[in-house]
Amino acid sequence: MTNIQGIAASSGIAIAKAYHLVTPDLTYTKTTIEDPSKEIERLDSALAISKQELEKIKAHTLKELGEEHAEIFSAHLLVLGDPELINPIKDKIQNENAMAEAALEETASMFIQMFESMDNEYMRERAADIRDVTKRVLAHLLGVSFPNPALIDEEVIVIAGDLTPSDTAQLNRQFVKGFATDIGGRTSHSAIMARSLEIPAVVGTKTVTTTVAKDDIVIIDGIDGNVIVNPSEADIKAYEEKQANFAKQQALWAELKDEPTLTSDGEQVELVANIGTPDDVIGVLNNGGEGVGLYRTEFLYMGKSELPTEDEQYEAYKSVLEQMGEKPVVVRTLDVGGDKELPYLDLPKELNPFLGFRAIRFCLENEHVFRPQLRALLRASVHGNLKIMFPMIATLEEFRKAKEILLDEKANLTKEGHQVSDSIEVGIMVEIPSTAVIAKQFAKEVDFFSIGTNDLIQYTMAADRMNEQVSYLYQPYHPAILNLVNNVIEAAHQEGKWAGMCGEMAGDPIAIPILLGLGLDEFSMSATSILPARTQLKGISKKDLASYKEQLLSMSTAEEVVAFIKEKTE
Ligand code: PEP
Ligand code: MG
Repeated sequence: MTNIQGIAASSGIAIAKAYHLVTPDLTYTKTTIEDPSKEIERLDSALAISKQELEKIKAHTLKELGEEHAEIFSAHLLVLGDPELINPIKDKIQNENAMAEAALEETASMFIQMFESMDNEYMRERAADIRDVTKRVLAHLLGVSFPNPALIDEEVIVIAGDLTPSDTAQLNRQFVKGFATDIGGRTSHSAIMARSLEIPAVVGTKTVTTTVAKDDIVIIDGIDGNVIVNPSEADIKAYEEKQANFAKQQALWAELKDEPTLTSDGEQVELVANIGTPDDVIGVLNNGGEGVGLYRTEFLYMGKSELPTEDEQYEAYKSVLEQMGEKPVVVRTLDVGGDKELPYLDLPKELNPFLGFRAIRFCLENEHVFRPQLRALLRASVHGNLKIMFPMIATLEEFRKAKEILLDEKANLTKEGHQVSDSIEVGIMVEIPSTAVIAKQFAKEVDFFSIGTNDLIQYTMAADRMNEQVSYLYQPYHPAILNLVNNVIEAAHQEGKWAGMCGEMAGDPIAIPILLGLGLDEFSMSATSILPARTQLKGISKKDLASYKEQLLSMSTAEEVVAFIKEKTE
């Protein structure tokens, strides 16, 4: 047995066979070949296997996710069967004695360059299709396996260097029992997705991809952040017991599912959930969520080959609002960029994507993307209790401009005869220090704040949230963070507004008493954290915790804060 320590990203225990989800090494040494007809046969057979795989993936995606998502694989199949691409590859083999790998890559790269330089967005998307298909065929020519997460059809633990949000979105909850990655922290999007999918996960292990071999049996302990490789019978028994105890604990928490969230001194706070798709709503309701505090709409834009239409978005927002009934639903407008890429938008590569052209910055410059989302939201507003918030707001001008576009679309829709709710609150995420510092000025203009600590911490401490090497600096309890959070809450209350938090800190058992004492009104977290949080809040007094506020805010280190709060709440 080998034990690898990582960061507990999503609780629970899972035991299954390892499945490596890694991009294979596609390098080769270029040579010339003797027998072109044999080489063409080799190419044909790589094309045939790729075609079979893509057809399977397409059928699977169609069944699981619908036509829209399956379209991307239809496009790949078209590329694979296109004589305009395949014939020149074969000519190159025949006439230049080129090896199939080189003939394929060189021909494909000529088409990719040609399509990429075109003005037409549709053609640029074709370049991305050719690139994807080339990689798949190349892998088969080189005899290395190409990962197809959508096709997993037995119980596995996924092992990966990192999982992008779109990789995670493709994972089939039925078969993927858990995952472990080399990089990432509790607030990387793969960890966040694991919690919404309710699958145990350990991230930031540094070595899991090199330590675990194909088909090893692996235990994921998402409670304590351990990965156990090739466990003994006794280990398996011990972890099965841990799993059973965890289930018992969950049953106890579940008793509070329909109870209001009250502290020991009878104060009520709101416990709501973060979601990524309309399918997550069921988890929110099953876990006693009192609303949705953050709907990350970017997942609607991922795993596709083009932007979702206004109608498609309307259906998704309507579905969430209807399922939640009268409960509040805070929808965040598109937060693309950072680690959330959309290949079809063809955004330029940036040196510092987290400090770059993302979220509201992108939307304000791309109204053809922003306006349809706002229209879809406004149209959906009549189906529930909608609140809209803008991400990554750094200046008041950005907020004013975004709100102006929203009001403009509202007027347009009314003119067109659509009904739009008149009571939509419009707020902002506070995730950039500049905004937290002048929260007082913002509070006069916004209806609410939602503090995005995942980013606020990384920007305040200058410590990349994805980089485990600087994770020691990623300190939620650092007095600088607590002072910024306090500033935002006080500013909101002075103007009679409410302040919530939708960063992962809101569901953290050490942070919860601190935030309660600072007067946070709404705590938005992964659905599975809601019932443990409700249980915890029942046992602590808001009045007591508020009395420590000044002391906490004037502390010098995160360590001091943690020691103090532990002593006061144990
Ligand atoms: C945040 O930054 O805290 C947040 C909730 O947004 P995201 O994690 O999607 O960046
Ligand atoms: Mg953020």
